[in-house]
Amino acid sequence: MTVGRFAPSPSGRMHLGNLFTALLAWLSVRSQNGKMLLRIEDLDPDRSKREYIDALKDDLQWLGLTYDEEMPLQSTRTARYAEAFSQLPAYPCYCSRNELHVASAPHASDGNLIYAGTCRNLTEDERSAKTRAPAWRVRVPDAEIAFTDGVFGEQRENLAKDCGDFIVRRSDGVYAYQLAVVCDDADGGVTEVVRGCDLLSSTPRQIWLYQTLGLPVPRFYHVPLLVAPDGKRLSKREKSLDMAHLRERFRPEELTGMLAFLAKLVETPAPVRATELIGGFSWSRVGREPIVVDPQDFSEKH
Ligand code: GLU
Repeated sequence: MTVGRFAPSPSGRMHLGNLFTALLAWLSVRSQNGKMLLRIEDLDPDRSKREYIDALKDDLQWLGLTYDEEMPLQSTRTARYAEAFSQLPAYPCYCSRNELHVASAPHASDGNLIYAGTCRNLTEDERSAKTRAPAWRVRVPDAEIAFTDGVFGEQRENLAKDCGDFIVRRSDGVYAYQLAVVCDDADGGVTEVVRGCDLLSSTPRQIWLYQTLGLPVPRFYHVPLLVAPDGKRLSKREKSLDMAHLRERFRPEELTGMLAFLAKLVETPAPVRATELIGGFSWSRVGREPIVVDPQDFSEKH
């Protein structure tokens, strides 16, 4: 059976981009008679807020994007992440942010830094001489990870060359998103992961973690990003496109129609219920190009 998930972070109110991803994830699961899970990604204690958890559940319900089960909060899963962490070839990294910037090269596809391996081979004596609390990185192999994304097609990345040893536990003790999401999706029996294509470049790291931990790898569908007319990402900062504002102006069917139109699932942005889109849903309709959204179109009814 297909098992999919919504995985919103409760660091703000849901916005148009989250809704776009949520609608596609939901349609994919429902069109296969699968099971939909909700996972609140409250991994980062500084950024997560209870009020946003309540609001995002209410927003999903308002749109009719139902889920069958709620997964445990990430903030309750530290012991599980620690157990997975103990199985990884991890080592402590004492580099400061500045040191990383000086020594690392930018990642070709997402601009993140490729770690130079500075702390990879420190001796025990060198480690004990350090005073700063370390982050923990995994020693990645010089090997290519290949997968086929359901939207973006063939992908390959050499972890050592294109990514470098990456962080699985932060210096404040919080386990990294890359590790948490792999444990969570595997333990939830998730078979398909639908998310924004800003996470496409994280996927080779996650696949390597699945393989290293002996966990089954799900299918991946990365959906195009919504961008403003100037090409910049429509971020959470575009307040007029968060759910608090959208719900003041639109009925659920109106918003769903506009989202389905952006996804090229329908010919016109006419009001439609999410359930009415299930029958005609196909991933082949969803393109790869960034989708330009004029915030004006969402600022008033037409
Ligand atoms: N929590 C992430 C977000 O809100 C999604 C992570 C994922 O789907 O793997 O963007």
